[in-house]
Amino acid sequence: MILQGKTAIITGATRGIGHAIAIRFAKEGCNVAFCGRTRNAAMEAVEAELTALGVKAKGYAADVADYESAQNFVKEVLADFGNVDILINNAGITADSAMKRMSEEQFDKVVGVNLKSVFCMTKAIQPAMWKQGHGSIVNIGSVVGIAGNYNQANYAASKAGIIGFSKSCAKEFAARNIRVNVVAPGFVETEMTADIPKELMDTWCSRIPLKRPGTPDEVAQACVFLASDMCPYITSVVLPVCGGMEDA
Ligand code: NAP
Repeated sequence: MILQGKTAIITGATRGIGHAIAIRFAKEGCNVAFCGRTRNAAMEAVEAELTALGVKAKGYAADVADYESAQNFVKEVLADFGNVDILINNAGITADSAMKRMSEEQFDKVVGVNLKSVFCMTKAIQPAMWKQGHGSIVNIGSVVGIAGNYNQANYAASKAGIIGFSKSCAKEFAARNIRVNVVAPGFVETEMTADIPKELMDTWCSRIPLKRPGTPDEVAQACVFLASDMCPYITSVVLPVCGGMEDA
């Protein structure tokens, strides 16, 4: 169990990729503090699922795009768990539209959640990680932040921003042995991609060298590696998990 005895914060773990990361981490012996925007049945179910794997686990209602909410979330986790070794910034949304029709609200909303949440959570955890002199931060980007995509200028901007932000923090935090990396998934089947028409999905898959979408757990495995002590000399990288998609 390569994360045995560690504690991680995972944002947006009530479903999808964040949920898969939480399960993987718990199976690797990691205590997990996670959040979604509201405390609901899904959050309680994830809490129970993780606890059944033999680790300490707790869900928190927090809007990580809100500065105060992120500060309070981390404060509560530190009070409950004592310390945090790993931060996975996974929470994210889409609001797709061609540029011609994209509203200011759609742009602000997506950048406001996807990019600002990474800033808010990094600000909140930095003092504790700085003090303890170690930490691993993994930010979930997207291949879209590298290659761009039709109808996703707002999303691509938010994910490209995460790369620049992460590489800057990697430089600043290295002096305190805090590593900062990005995992950039390609096309992964979750609720976020559930509305994509089957014909479009088939076309995309035909262009992926591995000829299929990724699974949330395949993204989670990359996060385990980057979060763990198996890669103490890896910081500032962008790791695509995308079946070999072009441009990534
Ligand atoms: P998802 O199924 O829609 O899940 C998103 C999660 O984020 C939920 O748990 C949601 O919780 C949480 N969340 C959203 N806004 C939040 C906020 N302001 N504060 C706290 N939690 C918030 O999405 P997913 O497909 O698993 O995506 C996870 C990450 O991977 C995202 O960053 C996404 O951009 C990235 N990604 C996904 C794909 C893909 O193909 N699926 C590809 C590349 C990158 P509540 O609704 O309970 O608040």
